[in-house]
Amino acid sequence: MQTAKQRLDKVLSSIHDTAHRAGRAPHDICLIGASKAQPVAAIRELAILGVQNFGENFVQEALEKQTALADLDLIWHFIGRIQSNKTLDIAKHFDWVHSVDRIKIARRLSRQRPADQDPLNICLQVNIQQEPTKAGLGLESLDEVAHTANELPAIQLRGLMAIPQPTDDLVAQRGSFAQLRTALERLNAQGLRLDTLSMGMSADMDAAILEGATMIRVGTGLFGPRERK
Ligand SMILES: *Cc1c(COP(=O)(O)O)cnc(C)c1O
Repeated sequence: MQTAKQRLDKVLSSIHDTAHRAGRAPHDICLIGASKAQPVAAIRELAILGVQNFGENFVQEALEKQTALADLDLIWHFIGRIQSNKTLDIAKHFDWVHSVDRIKIARRLSRQRPADQDPLNICLQVNIQQEPTKAGLGLESLDEVAHTANELPAIQLRGLMAIPQPTDDLVAQRGSFAQLRTALERLNAQGLRLDTLSMGMSADMDAAILEGATMIRVGTGLFGPRERK
């Protein structure tokens, strides 16, 4: 059994090495601990070791953990599928939302973000390979949604997120991430100012970093296997 410290050191040295290979600064890559189905104690342990960003997929589970960890200065990211009836809690209790995949959700989050909080940072989730059962915007509808979301007052459109089909082939992994990067560059050429590519998980974080990821969402690589519910 590896300790949390050993797992974290391995992830950090991998970020470091891959960033250098890509000619990038390691601190330009934000590590998010994907903590779904992980106990509060495991999050606390990583937080004490210096991880500040955590990503959750389920609202109720996230709120319970936020309450239990309220003594720590953590940054919370919502990375799961979004049901319309959960947007109020998401708008109130998160700093970032990575998984916005319909303009309706962006509008609700903007409307429901409390006025005394900073704008909610959001990424649009893109379904790069057009997988029918997967969440995410198709590349063909991305531009219109991005420009509309960019005008909403209480959200700040920061960038794009994707979860490509799993594959062990580094070239294929890089190809998918390159498509997301190209989409971001295209939007910026159209006048948007997006600075975030949320891409890369435990199995494909190196490919993502090589293609410009600024946020990686790492679950099992940091925490070990998830608990069964
Ligand atoms: C679970 C999850 C991750 C982390 O996956 P691992 O393979 O455990 O690193 C990243 N992003 C999202 C959206 C997830 O749901």
